[in-house]
Amino acid sequence: MLAEAPLLSTRGIEARYGRMQVLWGVDIDVQPRETILLLGANGAGKTTFLKTLVGLMPASAGSINFAGEDIAHLRADRRMRRGIAYMSELGVFPDLTIEENIRIGAQALSTTAAREKADEMYGLFPVLREKRDGLASSLSGGQRKMLGIAKALAADPRLLVMDEPSAGLSPLFVGEVVRTLGALRVGGLSLLIAEQNIGFLDIATRVYVLEGGRIRFSGTVADMSGDEDLRRAYFGLK
Ligand code: ATP
Repeated sequence: MLAEAPLLSTRGIEARYGRMQVLWGVDIDVQPRETILLLGANGAGKTTFLKTLVGLMPASAGSINFAGEDIAHLRADRRMRRGIAYMSELGVFPDLTIEENIRIGAQALSTTAAREKADEMYGLFPVLREKRDGLASSLSGGQRKMLGIAKALAADPRLLVMDEPSAGLSPLFVGEVVRTLGALRVGGLSLLIAEQNIGFLDIATRVYVLEGGRIRFSGTVADMSGDEDLRRAYFGLK
């Protein structure tokens, strides 16, 4: 049997802020239905990489292939229409209602499809239905994260790209987000999650570790725990 083509493949991605180069040739593959964890300390370049991927920042070099198409030259909204949804660290518009946030996520769909999508999201996250006319800012941290996920999923993506979904959450809520994302994978979605929180290793099919703008490691969680330095850095004393 032929190996499945990757859904996403980046090669040699470089990025800079003015004269300061922060990415130095990042190669990442995401196969269909994979959950990829991009681990790295503060300042490693995770956010920058995700932004170049979704089109919010230009790459100064490199290629991005998505579902067989070179998308590096496409604007962010075009990439979204191709099936890449992005959830930033903030994730939602706090001054808009829950319903408005979800509708923004679904803006590329027809009115009927958007309404159906919103209903589907309320089915997944019943607490959001109860509060649909309230402002996103009225939600708890964990609920806001759920809304961020619902907003991203409302675009009906093939790949969900997330920047630190654990940011600002207590360990209890991190566990809830991990379980929610684990269930999405069962539904066939591909995920690329940038994180520092190793709670996400539980749902990762493969891991990339970014250090100083370079991929320092790629492999399975088992491979990772076989690397002494990484074990010390990410698994504490284990
Ligand atoms: P964090 O978890 O803190 O968000 P990160 O791994 O996502 O870290 P980036 O935010 O991509 O890292 O930052 C990579 C490097 O680029 C850092 O040295 C950072 O200081 C720098 N940087 C990020 N944003 C800008 C900016 N707008 N202008 C200048 N330098 C920036």
